[in-house]
Amino acid sequence: MFKYFLVSLIIGFLSSQVSAQKNHLSTTINCDTTKFELADYVDSLEYYKHKFGRKRHLHVKDEKLKLAFYVALSHYPELKGIKICLKLKAIPSTMQAQPEADFIFRNKKNRSYKILVNNDKNINGMFYKDLSFNSLVGWIGHELAHVLDYSKKDNIKLLSFITSYIFSRKDMKKTEREADRETIKHGLGTQLLDGINFFHRNKKISKRYKKKKQDFYLSPKEIIVNINENCKTD
Ligand SMILES: [Zn+2]
Repeated sequence: MFKYFLVSLIIGFLSSQVSAQKNHLSTTINCDTTKFELADYVDSLEYYKHKFGRKRHLHVKDEKLKLAFYVALSHYPELKGIKICLKLKAIPSTMQAQPEADFIFRNKKNRSYKILVNNDKNINGMFYKDLSFNSLVGWIGHELAHVLDYSKKDNIKLLSFITSYIFSRKDMKKTEREADRETIKHGLGTQLLDGINFFHRNKKISKRYKKKKQDFYLSPKEIIVNINENCKTD
């Protein structure tokens, strides 16, 4: 019981994270040039549900958010068959990706993951509805990079990863920057850049949150360098 409590506590503190293990390579490397427009996808929800909806539970009504989730997911073929829930919740960052707290009692294959989206714009000034469709796809792409990373770790490694993420600024930074790189490798670099540019230009966002982004994530310049590097491999 205490173990379960401890795990729940740790998970509760878990912020958006990631990190690719050193040896994990993406299956597809894309040069990022596409800009997603919601108008091009408004009729596509049924198609995406049919193609990518198995084991996905979207507890949201917002069609733009649902479509952005599926468009981002379509860039992660490695996540096929993995259970992922999308939920709205008041959290201190824009989004967070977490394994469900009971993961420690489950086989890795039966784990489920959740992506939480902050629905309280007063927490840090950042509100998902203010993001363009393109940026939203990039933001969710970053969270899916975390899910991909978690899905490769066994329970002990995942628990130790979560602990180091929470207690080590260095590990948190490594994890977040690696998630950004993984997002770019999955062909969502332009989307990530769009979201970060919006973020840094947005005057409503708290200074504290902006400082966190600067300290732990790739800068717009670094994203551009990574996109260009990614394009070279095409
Ligand atoms: Zn993250």
